[in-house]
Amino acid sequence: MFVPKRVVFEEKALEYNLGNNILDYFKHKNNVEILYSKSGRIVGIPGKNPEEMYLQGKNTLVVGIRKSSSFQSCRPSAHYQLPLCSGCMGMCEYCYLNTQMGKRPYMKVYVNLDEILNKAEKYEIERYPNSTIFEGAATSDPIPVEFYTGALKKAIEFFGSRDNSYFRFVTKFTDINSLLNLEHNGKTTIRFSINTDKIITQFEHRTPKVEERLRAAFKVIKAGYKLGFIIAPVFLYSNWKEEYKVLLEKINNIFQGEEISFEVISHRFTKRAKENILKVYSSTSLPMEEEGRKFKYGQFGYGKYIYKREELEDMKEFFEKNIGINFGAGAINYII
Ligand code: SF4
Repeated sequence: MFVPKRVVFEEKALEYNLGNNILDYFKHKNNVEILYSKSGRIVGIPGKNPEEMYLQGKNTLVVGIRKSSSFQSCRPSAHYQLPLCSGCMGMCEYCYLNTQMGKRPYMKVYVNLDEILNKAEKYEIERYPNSTIFEGAATSDPIPVEFYTGALKKAIEFFGSRDNSYFRFVTKFTDINSLLNLEHNGKTTIRFSINTDKIITQFEHRTPKVEERLRAAFKVIKAGYKLGFIIAPVFLYSNWKEEYKVLLEKINNIFQGEEISFEVISHRFTKRAKENILKVYSSTSLPMEEEGRKFKYGQFGYGKYIYKREELEDMKEFFEKNIGINFGAGAINYII
């Protein structure tokens, strides 16, 4: 659970019960600075250099409302993003959010949840008779703030009551007990992002160990949810095969015979991401040497550095074989 050092309340958020409930909660906490923003601009997060600004941002919670009425698309894994929150308390060195959340990457929760879900309903109706999938973690990890907002609970119950739409989100965190007894009606898929011990220790700061994530995943599948694992980012380091094999064995020991899905994503980076990461993690050991990679043009006009073709083929073969043995080829959604 995210325990912020400061919480900033946008004025509009206090027009909602949830905003006021969160304010009441933090008013009774020691060591949490409370700030208010009339304009919606977030100021007052300290920091004299990029590292400090990053860290202070990561320790800040903003309570606001979601203004924009339209949802972003979320291809290929879903049709739309469901904006429940943005940002993340985790401090993964490679995180895609490092290029998206500005110099002070605060976590923000939205308190106008009914309006957000009403909008989701409109999208669902528009797409009828096709079904619609909403992704709840496109720009955040929503689990660490669930205690404050109950947003996932609300979304899961909402989609549980709908005929033609589905919900999914991904997390590295484990505070999922409040989601276990909900009427989800099989409409929500919960995915856990996992990696080898080495990668978690080295790069995924402020996140739970893989064993804890697997224990949480076990509770999720026992609660009847659809379960998936995202193995990402896969790094091809000296003994990656042995270590990813150990990871898959851990999964097999716990989930043998269960129906689960896998997404496997190799590490990639953009020039801009590399620059941003180096400002905050100046001595990072993330492998980001352009010479060792293949440059691939991206769909949004910027290119990314991916592993070379032979390496990716080797990786694909490895995961197809080692996931396929225990869970069948059908369990693999994609390996990229
Ligand atoms: Fe980014 Fe996910 Fe790590 Fe959070 S947990 S910092 S969203 S990679």
